[in-house]
Amino acid sequence: MDATPSAKVEVTVRDWAEGARTVREAFAALGLTLPACLPGEPEDCGHGDARDHYASYLGALQGHVESLIEASFAGDSDALDEVYRARARHRAIMDDVLG
Ligand SMILES: [Zn+2]
Repeated sequence: MDATPSAKVEVTVRDWAEGARTVREAFAALGLTLPACLPGEPEDCGHGDARDHYASYLGALQGHVESLIEASFAGDSDALDEVYRARARHRAIMDDVLG
């Protein structure tokens, strides 16, 4: 298996759209509804392409998750330590996957 950065798979417009929809589903699983506003969708907002939406959704999801962490574990240093350990483990895994 080639794990060099050059082994990265090129992301297509369809992939960006699928990624954006997947993040939107993550929001839905958390009880928040985002409009179907990607280019070509019923509520097309006209604000950027699928990649822009994917980036925006990921940023919004990151912010939402950070808010959940703060709201859920403020002052609970043991829980926050676990959050940060889990984040570090995940980042290490993703670094290996992405190269
Ligand atoms: Zn939109």
